[in-house]
Amino acid sequence: MNTGHPDGVAALARALRERRISSEELTRTLLARIEAERELGAFLCVDAEGALAQARRADERLARGAGGTLEGVPLAHKDVFVTRGLPTSAGSKMLAGYASPFEATVVARLGAGEPGGPPGAGMVTLGKLNCDEFAMGSSNENSAFGPVLNPWDRTRVPGGSSGGSAAAVAAGLVPAATGTDTGGSIRQPASLCGVTGIKPTYGVCSRHGMIAFASSLDQAGVLARSAEDCALLLSAMSGHDRRDATSSERPAQDFHAQMRAARAGADGGRPLAGLRIGLPREFFPPALAADVAAAVRAALAALEKLGATLLDVSLPRTELAIPVYYIIAPAEASSNLSRYDGVRYGHRAAQYADLAEMYRRTRSEGFGAEVKRRIMIGTYVLSHGYYDAYYLQAQKLRRMIAEDFQACFAHCDVIAGPVAPQVAARLGEQAHDPIKAYLADIFTLPASLAGLPGMSVPAGFGDGGMPVGLQLIGNYFGEGTLLHAAHALQQASDWHLRTPGATA
Ligand code: GLN
Repeated sequence: MNTGHPDGVAALARALRERRISSEELTRTLLARIEAERELGAFLCVDAEGALAQARRADERLARGAGGTLEGVPLAHKDVFVTRGLPTSAGSKMLAGYASPFEATVVARLGAGEPGGPPGAGMVTLGKLNCDEFAMGSSNENSAFGPVLNPWDRTRVPGGSSGGSAAAVAAGLVPAATGTDTGGSIRQPASLCGVTGIKPTYGVCSRHGMIAFASSLDQAGVLARSAEDCALLLSAMSGHDRRDATSSERPAQDFHAQMRAARAGADGGRPLAGLRIGLPREFFPPALAADVAAAVRAALAALEKLGATLLDVSLPRTELAIPVYYIIAPAEASSNLSRYDGVRYGHRAAQYADLAEMYRRTRSEGFGAEVKRRIMIGTYVLSHGYYDAYYLQAQKLRRMIAEDFQACFAHCDVIAGPVAPQVAARLGEQAHDPIKAYLADIFTLPASLAGLPGMSVPAGFGDGGMPVGLQLIGNYFGEGTLLHAAHALQQASDWHLRTPGATA
């Protein structure tokens, strides 16, 4: 049994509120750790002065018994969220040195609050985190600013695209970080780095100020040490935003209170009694690595011991999620990225004869190989004559994939399986084989296409002592159920408490 990680958000928020530590002291400690761990490549920019100023203001509010729900707790943001006063690059040379005139809603809500709105949660921003260029990738090797190393084994990738977020939390540089998930970019790095990550239902968090990759799939979320910590941040960052037309009209929810209420109502040693967990047989194919399968099965057995019932279910179109996603996401990306034309944002080629050449050179120089590949695929599938054959077909299949989930949710509450088919790969292993990387997204893409919430929960260790994540997928707006199940598991296990260098 455990009561959460001592360096986790919940514990730190409590210590700050009870004035056992100061935010300034905590901020200094983490800034020193970040400095000592520069080799990891997790941060693209560190704002020591700004963070200390925020921390001092937080300490003043705490001294008055005031402040937000997470007042003074430090965090860092994936560099896909725009921030005022700090550069935002989305891991791309195209945006190197770009400074936004406004702040993403998620950033504002976790920090000082939106302009003219209520005060925010009061968290202290330490800096911005490395990621794959425009969030395209699953190893963080597509960042224009270099890869991120996995803190569990520095010869391996941390996963992606939120690789900096996952590595920073795993290495103890921040208690929590924001991330974005379009097809798995929170869950997969969380799994590969042994931290807890949640991508909520599409629309729960505002996309305002989140640099667009594939707008119908992009969602903001959190990576932290525990489900409880994720619940605390998610409550603060979610809720309707009139600046994002796709943001849900539902009022902001207190996921933390829901998680606790569910636990209080639960029967003693069986907090998950009555919870039906569906295991899609397509999530346990023969090709699934044995070490991953074993860890996932052990976590499922632990959930069963807590009272959950495991059921066999089927998501028959799982395999189709790969071609469907890799048509829809590039199609939307090719449209979203057309705004980087050298006129409005970021990079512009130094030399050109005319406007057409300026566009061509700017985009050739500014984008990396993977981004160019996606723009080409996207432009192709949207072009006249191919639109019906590819894009329209993919949209139809996307709907069928979503329907398969609803058929499962008719008789189960949560769907579970692995997050990734293997533990973290060695750096460089997949760099020249994009198809191999795309295929490894198989278990995370379906929930993204359906717009469902998904989590990665640490579930032990596989080959080389590398972390393995259990994926939990909920029905629409079922974040509370996911967080409750994950929290119950974390109360009864200690996988999430292990840190790199202390695996034994
Ligand atoms: N790995 C997937 C891709 O490369 C998902 C990325 C993401 O979720 N942002 O598109």
